[in-house]
Amino acid sequence: MSVTEIVDRCQELFDDLDFNYVKEWKAKDPDRKAIGYLPVYVPREIIHAAGMLPVGILGGGDQLEVIHGDAYYQSYICRIPRSTIELGVTGRLDCIDGVLFPSICDVIRNLSGMWKLLFKDKYVRYFDVPQTYTDEIGGNYYVKELEELKEGLENLGGKKITDEAINASVALYNENRRAIADVYALRTKSPWKVPTSEVYLLLRAGMILPVEEHTQMVRDYLAAAEVEERPMRDNCRVVMSGMFCEQPPIGLIRSVEMAGCYIVDDDFMLVTRWLLEDVPTTGNPLQNLADAFLHYSGETAAKYVDKNADKGKFIIESVKKTAAEGVVFAAPSFCDPALLDQPMLHTALNDNNIPFTAFQYAENSGQMQPIREQAGTFADSIKLWSV
Ligand code: SF4
Repeated sequence: MSVTEIVDRCQELFDDLDFNYVKEWKAKDPDRKAIGYLPVYVPREIIHAAGMLPVGILGGGDQLEVIHGDAYYQSYICRIPRSTIELGVTGRLDCIDGVLFPSICDVIRNLSGMWKLLFKDKYVRYFDVPQTYTDEIGGNYYVKELEELKEGLENLGGKKITDEAINASVALYNENRRAIADVYALRTKSPWKVPTSEVYLLLRAGMILPVEEHTQMVRDYLAAAEVEERPMRDNCRVVMSGMFCEQPPIGLIRSVEMAGCYIVDDDFMLVTRWLLEDVPTTGNPLQNLADAFLHYSGETAAKYVDKNADKGKFIIESVKKTAAEGVVFAAPSFCDPALLDQPMLHTALNDNNIPFTAFQYAENSGQMQPIREQAGTFADSIKLWSV
């Protein structure tokens, strides 16, 4: 398949706010179930091992008119909970049998409560993750959390989830993470061959397609992108940070690229890249997943870092590893986890003489001209004055 064909397929999935793919997947077998999950991280391996389809719910984007959702939330918070409510109350998520709300902020926590009140017949779980990274405390706690999740899915599906099934699913997700890492590596090496607007859509497809199908799609894209002739531009290389939950409009990513920036690292769809190494595929899978979470997960703004001295290390490493020349912070308006992290990251970047710029967005931001101007000015200043 060509790059265009793959990207068109991803765009089609991205545009479908009625989750028709999920409906078609479920229609093949009346026992099939789909489990939604909000950003940022859930262990999709366990859902897959239950024979269910994990479905990322990432808000309504810039195509959904929010009519009911505003009534559930005050005006001074981000938009993703409102548009998610809108998706729910308009019946678009009726095909989703349960939803996991990962512990990322109070807004998502409250949303899980609202979901319980609004959709009493659905499985709802607030999925908590450890904030203490020692095996005896955070590790043991997280294993229990995973066991409860497993039991919840077993009750919903009416069958046991075996260790063998989880280990087999872990192997598939390891493969998926490796394929995505290969796309990121090619983008770092030759960013003109792998525009981030395409990488973004490719990752979004992974929020809905079964992992086996998505891995094949990523491999096909990689093969097609490697041979596609595209002009190399005199762009600067930037890391983008802050977009791990409420999604930027795709026009924002294109605007930053058109303004003269090659995006060489980002924090989109962190669920696909949260674990930085393969998870073992033998032994106790819940223990393995817990060990992975504790000891080799990326230290982005979406994760609690308990030592002040470590704050910012991850983004500095990302800049160095990708030979980036600067950082563009793009955060959703009112996003506490992203915006409260920024001053510490700014300090770390200043200490390392790495230039940065920052702006905010909402998933339905329409006016891209100011962002294009800001990103363009940033790119020009790097080219003119960076040493
Ligand atoms: S965008 Fe930020 S504040 Fe809003 S739900 Fe997501 S993490 Fe929480």
